[in-house]
Amino acid sequence: MQKLFDPTFETEAQTQIRELARKFSKDKIQPIVEHDEETGTFRREIIAGLGELGLTGIPVKEEYGGAGLGYQEYIAAVEELAAVSCSYAISVAVSGLPQVILQNYGTEEQKKKYIPKLASGEWVGAFGLSEPSSGSDAASLRTTATKQGDHYILNGTKLWITQADTADVLIVMARTGGEGSKGVSSFIVERGTPGYKMGKKEKKMAAHIDHTMEIVFENAMIPAVNLVSKEGDGMKIALSALDSGRITIAATALGLARASIEVAVHHANIREQFGKPILDFQGVGFMLADMLTQYQAAKLMVQKAAYLKDNAQPFGLAAAQAKLFATDMAMQVTTDAVQVLGGSGYTQEFPVERYMREAKMLQIVEGTNQIQRLVISRAVRER
Ligand SMILES: Cc1cc2nc3c(=O)[nH]c(=O)nc-3n(C[C@H](O)[C@H](O)[C@H](O)COP(=O)(O)OP(=O)(O)OC[C@H]3O[C@@H](n4cnc5c(N)ncnc54)[C@H](O)[C@@H]3O)c2cc1C
Repeated sequence: MQKLFDPTFETEAQTQIRELARKFSKDKIQPIVEHDEETGTFRREIIAGLGELGLTGIPVKEEYGGAGLGYQEYIAAVEELAAVSCSYAISVAVSGLPQVILQNYGTEEQKKKYIPKLASGEWVGAFGLSEPSSGSDAASLRTTATKQGDHYILNGTKLWITQADTADVLIVMARTGGEGSKGVSSFIVERGTPGYKMGKKEKKMAAHIDHTMEIVFENAMIPAVNLVSKEGDGMKIALSALDSGRITIAATALGLARASIEVAVHHANIREQFGKPILDFQGVGFMLADMLTQYQAAKLMVQKAAYLKDNAQPFGLAAAQAKLFATDMAMQVTTDAVQVLGGSGYTQEFPVERYMREAKMLQIVEGTNQIQRLVISRAVRER
């Protein structure tokens, strides 16, 4: 039989990374994922194990402890992780944001101090942009950073910060100047900084292994050397990180969709009604045909965005398109997988209901899909 999920167009390095990530996910994450999703247990040893394989710093230069590979390899690993655990795929992707930011904008000292620990999986990273009154309109953020001698004093509240409670370091966007994007700067904040506190933990629909936290800054003193780039560059830095992050969110969507299709295909082959496998009913067979085709189309878009990034070509438009299409695809495909399984799909006996809940998150994070359409529609402007 023709392979449904052959690694089309993959380089040897991509296939190697995919195999590494697949084996680790099956051996180490699969046995604990359902329990840990139920109990909200995040295991640092999983991140450390991924780090040992070089999977927590794939696109980071070797001189800073990374694997020295590109986004084409990164998406292969993230897809494999997501096919078993969306939470750990997101965790790795979020921890990647400070690495990408510091690699592109950090001083040599900042790079040497933080990137190797994050790339090796010894440390976990986070990204703090969203606030109670600023989500899509991120540039209206209100957290302030006021210079006092050789420190900045941070005050304000951030919302929805993935794994802030476990993160050893996070990049925080705060206002150093006037209103709008030009008044925002980026800072490196370490765990244990006095005045940096955890707020409430969100009760979410899915991805319970990743804790989504409110964080509060009350006169938190950040050394001035922790400013990334220069004052006023914060939104530029955040948006460029999100451009890259959208490729990994799209790869997460591929993993969820593929895992759903595998379950649905198997079920349609073995479940009999009216004396024959349900696959033989056109209504089911066509649903599976559409699921598979949509997945393959999304995969090509994600591959393209990663290819452009790896080859230093403009990739923001392709990343927004890949994120939009792949995450909408995953929402549809996971929902259809539940439908193919019927009543069983709606129970926790099968993972497809979890995949469906996880897919919803991907349409919201790193810029909602409405915001992706906004980004894409800007590209068609002639003025
Ligand atoms: C599980 C999870 C993890 C997250 N992790 C992080 C993290 O680690 N770090 C971080 O900084 N943030 C994080 N976020 C926040 C996420 O980025 C925001 O939720 C997202 O950007 C949307 O912002 P909002 O929730 O305030 O929605 P809003 O901006 O209030 O939007 C509400 C609705 O209005 C729509 N909308 C808003 N503006 C427009 C417009 N101009 N045109 C059309 N429609 C529009 C949106 O698409 C959405 O449907 C996380 C969120 C979730 C759910």
